[in-house]
Amino acid sequence: MATLLGAAWLLVAGLSCAGPAAAQTTGKNPSHEDILRGFDIAALYADTSQGVTGFGAGATLTGVVVRWDHPIVYSLDGMQYDKARIAETVETLKTIADKAGVVVKEGALGGKDVNFRIIFLNTDNLRTKSGGKAGCLTSWNSDGWTGRLSWVELQINFAYQAGISQCIQHELLHAFGLRGHPHKLHSIMSYYTTRFVFEPTEADIVMLQTLYDHRIKTGMPRLHAVALANGIIEEKRRALNPSAPPATPPDAVLADIRASIVKQAEAGNVRAMLHLAEAFRSGKGADLDPARSQAWLDRAAASTDPAQRFDAAYALQFGRIVPRDQERAARIYADIADGGQAAAQNNLGTMLRNGHGLAADKVEALKWFILSAKAGNKLAEKNRDSLSVELAAEQRGEAERRAGAWKPVAQAAK
Ligand SMILES: [Zn+2]
Repeated sequence: MATLLGAAWLLVAGLSCAGPAAAQTTGKNPSHEDILRGFDIAALYADTSQGVTGFGAGATLTGVVVRWDHPIVYSLDGMQYDKARIAETVETLKTIADKAGVVVKEGALGGKDVNFRIIFLNTDNLRTKSGGKAGCLTSWNSDGWTGRLSWVELQINFAYQAGISQCIQHELLHAFGLRGHPHKLHSIMSYYTTRFVFEPTEADIVMLQTLYDHRIKTGMPRLHAVALANGIIEEKRRALNPSAPPATPPDAVLADIRASIVKQAEAGNVRAMLHLAEAFRSGKGADLDPARSQAWLDRAAASTDPAQRFDAAYALQFGRIVPRDQERAARIYADIADGGQAAAQNNLGTMLRNGHGLAADKVEALKWFILSAKAGNKLAEKNRDSLSVELAAEQRGEAERRAGAWKPVAQAAK
C-alpha cells in the first residue's frame, strides 16, 4: 500500500534572551489571576511583545497547547566549556522534566534519535533571526495544529553577562513549551524580572505543572485550555503553598481572551473563527451556543482568502480545533483546487485516492496530483509517483489527458 502524505504546517520560532536595558520590578506572591494570565501568555498566546523580538510565526492569538508528548533525547555539544555549568544544565533539564512528567535520556551527539540539542558556546555574536543580539537562544519545531513539540535546540552562551544560571533555567522552560514572556509575573520567564530571579518561581512551577497536567491535552485550543487551567492553577498553587488564601477563579481572564479572538475573527482570521466555533460548540471556553458555533464555522469555510480557506478545510479534514467533517473538507478543497491552489489540489487528491469525504476516484486523484506537482507541490510529486504505479496505462493516460485540459476556474467572491 502506497503511503500518501498530507500537508502539515510547521511553525519554527526562535527566541532571544537579551534582557532590556531598563529592568522593572514586579510583585512577588502572584495572585491566581496573575498566574492564569501569565500561563496564557507563556503557554498559549506566546506573547513576546513589549520589546522582545525574534518570535516570528510562533506568536499567535489563536494558539494551541504546545508541549512534549513523547520522550526527550538530548545531546550535548561544546563540552570544552565549564564542566560544572554543563552538569548544572543537565541537572536542571532533569528537574524540569521530572516536574513535567516527561521522560529524558541522553543520546549521542549527531544521533538520529536526538530531538533536544543543547549547544554550549562563548560568543558575543549570537543573533536572533531578526538580527538582534542574543544572550542565549532557543529554537523549536512544533506542529501548529497538533501542538506536538518535535525538536528543540538550545544555545547556552557562556558570554551571557546577566547570569548563566538564569539563562539555563529560562531557556529550558522555553524548551518545555512556556514560549512567551509573562512580564507582569514574578517569573524567570519575564525579561523584566530575570535580573532578580535566579531560579523558577512559584508562578513558573505552577505554569509548568499546569501545562503538563493530564486534563490539558497537547493541541488543545487556547480557550478550552485556559478554561481548564483556571481550576488546575488553583490546585497546584495551593499544593505548593497551602497557606495561600483560596481564590475564586476569575472569569475576566477568559472573557478578555475570548474578546481578543472575536476581534481577530471579525478581521477575517480563519483560525480565530475555528477557535470560536469550537468554544461555542463544546461550551469549553464559552457558553454553549450551537447556532453561533455553526455561524463561525460557515464563515471560516467561506473565507475569500484561498490560504485561509485551506486552513478551514485542513482543520475539518483532520479534526484539528473543530471536529472532523471530511465531506465538508473535500467540498472546500475542491473549490480552491479549481482555483489553482496547489496544496488544496494535493489534499483533494489524497481524499479522492482514499475515498475520504467523497467517492474514491483514483484517476481524478492522479489528475490533481499531476496538477499540484506541476505547480511545485513536493508532496504531490511523491503522491503522483506512488499512485501512478498502481494504475493501468489507460487510467494514467486518462488522468494526464484531464490534467492537460484543466483550466483554473475564477474564484467567485463569497
Ligand atoms: Zn526568553
